[in-house]
Amino acid sequence: MSFQFVKKLPIPAEIKKQFPISERAASIKADRDAQIKDVFTGASRKFLVIIGPCSADNEDSVMEYVHRLAKVQDKVGDHLILIPRIYTSKPRTTGEGYKGMMHQPDPEKKPDALAGLVAIRKLHLRVIEETGLTSADEMLYPENYWYLVDVLSYVAIGARSVEDQHHRMTTSGMDVPAGMKNPTSGDFSVMLNSVVAAQTAHDFIYRGWEVSTNGNPLAHVILRGATNKYGNSIPNYHYEDLIRLLHMYDQRDLSYPAAIIDTNHSNSNKQYEEQPRIVHEVLESRSLNPRLHDLIKGVMVESYLEPGNQKIGCEKHIYGKSITDACLGWDASEQLIYDIYRKC
Ligand code: PEP
Ligand code: MN
Repeated sequence: MSFQFVKKLPIPAEIKKQFPISERAASIKADRDAQIKDVFTGASRKFLVIIGPCSADNEDSVMEYVHRLAKVQDKVGDHLILIPRIYTSKPRTTGEGYKGMMHQPDPEKKPDALAGLVAIRKLHLRVIEETGLTSADEMLYPENYWYLVDVLSYVAIGARSVEDQHHRMTTSGMDVPAGMKNPTSGDFSVMLNSVVAAQTAHDFIYRGWEVSTNGNPLAHVILRGATNKYGNSIPNYHYEDLIRLLHMYDQRDLSYPAAIIDTNHSNSNKQYEEQPRIVHEVLESRSLNPRLHDLIKGVMVESYLEPGNQKIGCEKHIYGKSITDACLGWDASEQLIYDIYRKC
């Protein structure tokens, strides 16, 4: 047996006590949560732009990014809600490579789970305290969600996790909107089944407890494109895909049908510069059909200070350039937000 219990980690309550959310930050979050929820219930007509690096790999560059975003938010706030994408745990296709700040607070050093749990909580707290924005993260490990439960305004369930029962049931207890991605196969019914599960009440075992949830009516879908049996990317952001989604939602009895379009991953075939074009096509489809206008609540864009990506540990590390999926650079991202603003 090679399974070693290396170090007993503090439970979420202990980490939260050591790094608590201030009253001011909690009230900023309550206000932002209410605004974001209103978009999903239809009470608000604002459009969501969930935007930021593929992985939050470095506290300084991520904070610089979010500070820039906060300045833009001030200018577009009457139409748009910008949600920084601060992804601190990364699913890996083969299990190899950087698994996120939670594993490796320094991507060039060895994994350190305790330092990682502290680093991700501090990063999410800094975002609220310093910028007044509140972020989105992926729930890659349901049992770790509780370390961040009071700081996230939006949670995504990744393409590789969306069929998993524990992810679905944990999502059913969240009180923030949760986006269930289509699986990498692209099957919309699997994705919608996960929304059914997340919107339903459950009893299950969680962190050594028997727990019960009420169901999360704000669980919805994220379209991220698919991969076919030959490994080719199949986009799912086109008009016909959105109409198909609408019809499939119509056949189910779900609360608040909603979709976010992820413009990178298999939708862009990881051609990050395609993201603005994809956003514009989605906005065009939305403007052609009032029902799509109601359904599509926002976009998710992978963006960082510098365009493209780089390998970890490469000799000339470039500050603010992704070490996982290639991202749109800041200038193009800022321009894109203003373009979305004019069209929404
Ligand atoms: C991501 O958002 O970076 C990601 C890995 O997404 P997906 O689960 O869609 O592959
Ligand atoms: Mn990515």
